[in-house]
Amino acid sequence: MIKRFFAIFSAVIVCVGLFGIFGLCGCDMISADLTDGKLRVVTTIFPAYDFAREIFGETADVVLLLKPGTESHSYDPSARDIVRIDGCDLFIYNGGESDAWVENVLKSTENVSALRMMDAVEVIEEDHENIAEAEHEDDKHDSHEDEEYDEHIWTSPKNAALIAESVKEAAIRLAPENKTLYEDSANKLISQINDLDKRFSELLAGEERYFIFGDRFPLLYFFKEYGLKFYAAFPGCGSETEPSAQTIAFLTEKLSEDDSVKTVFCIELSNRKLAETLAAENGLSVTEFHTCHNISADDFAAGESYVSLMERNFCSLEKILGQE
Ligand SMILES: [Zn+2]
Repeated sequence: MIKRFFAIFSAVIVCVGLFGIFGLCGCDMISADLTDGKLRVVTTIFPAYDFAREIFGETADVVLLLKPGTESHSYDPSARDIVRIDGCDLFIYNGGESDAWVENVLKSTENVSALRMMDAVEVIEEDHENIAEAEHEDDKHDSHEDEEYDEHIWTSPKNAALIAESVKEAAIRLAPENKTLYEDSANKLISQINDLDKRFSELLAGEERYFIFGDRFPLLYFFKEYGLKFYAAFPGCGSETEPSAQTIAFLTEKLSEDDSVKTVFCIELSNRKLAETLAAENGLSVTEFHTCHNISADDFAAGESYVSLMERNFCSLEKILGQE
């Protein structure tokens, strides 16, 4: 991936060079985004995009690099993406193993003001105990100081509020003349998130039942926040979703041990194969838990937000936990 990155980056340098010489460029991929005097904010993943668009409002054009509907762990920056980062006023990224490419880009771009979401919260280590296939996929990871830390920080609403707070601070640093506007929009967003947190706390207080994920599990922060117990097939990151026989046996055993479990969870944009197989074999339903890692093209077009997707999770949990 590193090699590919440098190949793309060299191509961009050549293109930018030509652009400088000829003053125009036939190469559409690097055409500058027109912003009408607005700030330009570039984000890697959906929660960053959503919080930035809420807080900046009309004062910025906010770009989401990860295309809606695509798998967040297989993202590779295109030449156009790198040019966008280089020319933006604020770049917001998460900072975990999926974003290992970011540091190379930031080293090569000048004076890009960047906000790393993982700096806004207290990070926790990856869980290997309750996840059937949690061995490290070492060949996939670039060495990175945070590879032992779970990157899916935003799944806890408390963290989401902290991230929104730091986006607000970055916005005010960037355009102090809009301070009141940014404070108002951030306070509105944060109070919606705090309200969700309060309702999740009430709904999940004292919950003793296990949650079984026949899928990847990028929800450690949410589950730790509310003290929930779980077993899952795959770790949160990584593209592996083909279960081994041991994983199927492990989860089947967990399901048969506990007849209070009514559903097998899957996550958004999943092939659902394992969850559906486990559910069918045990006479259970399948429930989607939206991790907000990325968003489907339909949800994106419908204007769904972090808050509305978490609201969807609240309704699913309320329904499942209400069953005897
Ligand atoms: Zn991930």
